[in-house]
Amino acid sequence: MSSPPAGSRTPARRRAVGAHPAAHGAETDLGRTRRARRINRTLAAAYPDAHAELDYTNPLELLVATVLSAQTTDVRVNQVTPALFKRYPTAAAYAAADRADVERLIRPTGFYRAKAGHLIGLGEALMARHDGQVPEALEDLVDLPGVGRKTAHVVRGNAFDHPGITVDTHFSRLVRRWGLTEEKDPVKIERAVGDLIEKSEWTMYSHRVIWHGRRICHARKAACGACPIAYDCPSYGVAGPADPEDAAALITSPDRDHLLALAGLDG
Ligand code: SF4
Repeated sequence: MSSPPAGSRTPARRRAVGAHPAAHGAETDLGRTRRARRINRTLAAAYPDAHAELDYTNPLELLVATVLSAQTTDVRVNQVTPALFKRYPTAAAYAAADRADVERLIRPTGFYRAKAGHLIGLGEALMARHDGQVPEALEDLVDLPGVGRKTAHVVRGNAFDHPGITVDTHFSRLVRRWGLTEEKDPVKIERAVGDLIEKSEWTMYSHRVIWHGRRICHARKAACGACPIAYDCPSYGVAGPADPEDAAALITSPDRDHLLALAGLDG
């Protein structure tokens, strides 16, 4: 049985709650790969503008913003970075920074003492090892203070166009709900999903999944009844209400009408 085409305005087909083959282990590997790619295509129609929501104009700014985004929202980071980037435009500037000044500028992002240490350490490491430039290699990036695999993939994917899967809290939750993997470790999730999705799609797929997690597939109450990928999701009606009206009320993003139309519902 094929799924409805992405972008259709006809009411999206729904399975009964719990009826998806993947919900009870009756899906082949090929079926899972096809479903993962179909989900990606539907998400591409749902979120044509998906992108990193951190503001930046060069690799250093993206690296700094991503380090600051730990344990806080992109919105909060975007509030502090204009002043920070103006005052510290280069790796050399971070290396020579006054710690108290950096802490004051980034304080609203939380954990500001540790993050200030990371930024100054980043500046020092970039000056000592990379001529003040942000490196492109994964192993060089993860060697920098405050930079883990997730941050490295964000920088590689968005500043340097190297495909990468960014496993954050939204990504982990969604791919597990979709039954694409049962792994819990971010590196294992990255590998498992990377085997399902075309490499050229990895960066955009990451953005789309994260956007879907923020707008529809919420951690506590997912808007299942208004979800454009409900047909392909084994957690439909389990992670949140299957009732379209109840579900629609859970979507509050500016692109709400577009998302509801994609799910075959009126705005
Ligand atoms: S909102 Fe519900 S149906 Fe949609 S992806 Fe999340 S769990 Fe599945």
